[in-house]
Amino acid sequence: MPVTCSHAIRGSFFDITRTVSTPDELLDAARYIEDGLLLLNAGKIVSLSPWQEESSQLPPGCELVDYRGKLIVPGFVDTHIHYPQTEMIGAFGEQLLEWLNQYTFPVESQYHCPQHSAQMSAFFLQQLLSNGTTTALVFGTVHPESVDALFSAAHGLGMRLIAGKVMMDRHAPEALTETPEQSYRQTRELIERWHNVGRLSYALTPRFAPTSSPQLLEKVRQLRQEFPDTWLHTHLSENPQEVAWVKALFPENSGYLDVYHQYQLTGRRSLFAHCLHLEDEEWDCLHHTDSAVAFCPTSNLFLGSGLFDLQTCWQKGVKMGVGTDVGAGTTFNMLQTLGEAYKVGQLQRYKLSACEAFYHATLGGAKALDLDRHIGSFMPGKDADFVAIDPAVSALQTLRHGNSRDIWEKLFVLMTLGDDRNIAATWVEGRCVWQCDKSRQAA
Ligand SMILES: [Zn+2]
Repeated sequence: MPVTCSHAIRGSFFDITRTVSTPDELLDAARYIEDGLLLLNAGKIVSLSPWQEESSQLPPGCELVDYRGKLIVPGFVDTHIHYPQTEMIGAFGEQLLEWLNQYTFPVESQYHCPQHSAQMSAFFLQQLLSNGTTTALVFGTVHPESVDALFSAAHGLGMRLIAGKVMMDRHAPEALTETPEQSYRQTRELIERWHNVGRLSYALTPRFAPTSSPQLLEKVRQLRQEFPDTWLHTHLSENPQEVAWVKALFPENSGYLDVYHQYQLTGRRSLFAHCLHLEDEEWDCLHHTDSAVAFCPTSNLFLGSGLFDLQTCWQKGVKMGVGTDVGAGTTFNMLQTLGEAYKVGQLQRYKLSACEAFYHATLGGAKALDLDRHIGSFMPGKDADFVAIDPAVSALQTLRHGNSRDIWEKLFVLMTLGDDRNIAATWVEGRCVWQCDKSRQAA
């Protein structure tokens, strides 16, 4: 028993205790404690043990929080999302390239305004927290104001967040493009202002190859060399027309990923969203460079982009996390996103188990972001970021939860029927930052 401990949390706990290289290893790595006790101190996890073992020795001054009846899992990790697109979620009728022009660019052009950015940042972070997501890799807009507002709000909440300003110098409206020099200077200033401040980190964020001139990509390369511990966040191979466009724009490259690779933008902290139409050698390049990908099922289905090949991703040994990709994605909620991931698997005869799905949404996502030392499980010393889930909040859920035989079935039912109503409380850095309003839910 530790000398000091600020909080003791009682409830049922589920996590995956270590990263794995095949789905077969997951059952061994999974841990379920039906009546457990999680001790926290100074924003970190001290220990997780069965209630009977530790409850008699709670240190004095330690506040006991009773979440019996709730399932507590590590905070969800959203590996790809656009905060300025929150206000345009559910835009009708278009696929990627038309959708960008018709809906996305007009909305993003508002984020030069610090007040609008601040207002939407606060709204966005509340959406994340009320859905149990405690860490995200986030696109801003081309305006530094958008990123200043987001980082400032996340810092106030103590969240672990990675974000960056979009870098974009062509094939977009004039109000949203910049020169490569301007992009370099503004990005550099943001890195110096925010990177490694508290739990914030900076991601170099070229939107995607079609909106990047070779000169801009050269500036991204230069920044990565100057700030080697920053992240790289972009899109890759989402839509067949987009892939063809990249080939036309960069005829000297062997393929889409090769454009990024040539500018040394692949690597351990590089994350590529979507990856739906990759060639075999592109998967190999992702593996060899230790790059990661984000699987965004609701977005891929909504924009009709294609089906992510989870089986190949495992076979090729490529790190993967789940992304909601709001606003092409249709929910902030990770339970719903996992339910859609399962259906994407079904269409390709791949059985995504609940254990695997929760791994991708927690420790697997953390590994994809190179943050698995800090978050993603209840191992001692990790950040105390977690979510208490109410497993049954409707008549249908109560019926189905009640007849579920074991934790695997309960988790699977949660990802099939669950949504934001199931999120009872969200904790960040050892503090409860969001709690479900029961009176409102009942209404
Ligand atoms: Zn995206």
